[in-house]
Amino acid sequence: MARTIFHLDMDAFFANVERVLNPSLKSKPLIVGGNPEGRGVVSSASYEARKYGVHSAMPMSRAKKLCPHAVIVTPRHGRYGEFSGRIYRILQTYAPLVERASIDEFYLDLTGCERLYGHMLRLAGKLKEVILRETGLPCSIGIASNKLVAKVASGQAKPDGLLRIPPGEESLFLSRLPVKELPGIGETTHKKLRDRGIRTIGDLARFPRDLLASSFGKVGESLGERARGVDREEVRERGRQKSLSQETTFESDSDDPVFLKTTLSHLVEEVGYRLRKQGMKAKTVSLKVRYSDFRTITRSRTVGEVDGNAEIYRIVRELLEKAHTRRVRIRLLGVCLSNLTPAVAQKQLFEDERERRKSSLYRSLDRIRDKFGLKLHFGSSIWRR
Ligand SMILES: [Mg+2]
Repeated sequence: MARTIFHLDMDAFFANVERVLNPSLKSKPLIVGGNPEGRGVVSSASYEARKYGVHSAMPMSRAKKLCPHAVIVTPRHGRYGEFSGRIYRILQTYAPLVERASIDEFYLDLTGCERLYGHMLRLAGKLKEVILRETGLPCSIGIASNKLVAKVASGQAKPDGLLRIPPGEESLFLSRLPVKELPGIGETTHKKLRDRGIRTIGDLARFPRDLLASSFGKVGESLGERARGVDREEVRERGRQKSLSQETTFESDSDDPVFLKTTLSHLVEEVGYRLRKQGMKAKTVSLKVRYSDFRTITRSRTVGEVDGNAEIYRIVRELLEKAHTRRVRIRLLGVCLSNLTPAVAQKQLFEDERERRKSSLYRSLDRIRDKFGLKLHFGSSIWRR
């Protein structure tokens, strides 16, 4: 039996949340991102700004040149998380199985719900309506027999759209799209595919299997399958984020150890705060370093379970000391926490008095931060809460 999967993707999520919080920004070109005088990047841009060619991950300085009259707002991740949680709770009342794939993307498994809801397009329209009414935010929904095709469909439906791909038409729908639209194809793979004359997803679907396997290894086999619209991934109930990360690009490249360590400690404070807010602990701590020549490395360490700033900081500092062997200045540092598990269960199990005290110390620091806000300023980012 064909499955019925929805992919619901919020439109220009951060930008639209900012507009809900500050209605005077409505219908103005709006960019959420770092400092345009420095080297921050665009986190989210309203469609009015996108018309000028502005898009996510673009340097802010360039975005500002393309759209000089845009209003620029500093990201407020805490607020976006709140809205994301509200949307998640709405979706849970409609679908038996909801997966929060990222802060603004959800998969719903509605297989067998046709009896209950009638036509799926009508249900999707209703979901859009309810989310807009309850949160003020627009979204797009793709409907298909699997997650992959539903995701591509929602992308094609944007903004504020609906698209359903009937079972059996997956491969036909994908075939005419540029190969870059297939989720999971990064810059490197895209270039390799282009070098082999593969432009559309259809080209990729028709490409001989053995050639794909020999050029791309194991990934090659699944690439071909995905291009034909085959995906067996299940919708997994998982309300929490898989990882938390924060990175910053410096105003100017640096190899000053004091500056690098201070930056790391600010990054740790930010992700540590968000981790504890979600009641989670992290098993894996990662460091990302981008050098002035744009070479980027990541180093990870899997540990017991951490949620305290001091422990996380100690790990990333060691990772940095080990990794930073090149005599090249650093352009960007990032800290990522992944392998997250709920911390709730451990709370009653604290036997070690020191652990307990430390944990309550962080909780009270977080409370102070909630109450008075904390303004961090370093590199090109200003974070406010
Ligand atoms: Mg989105």
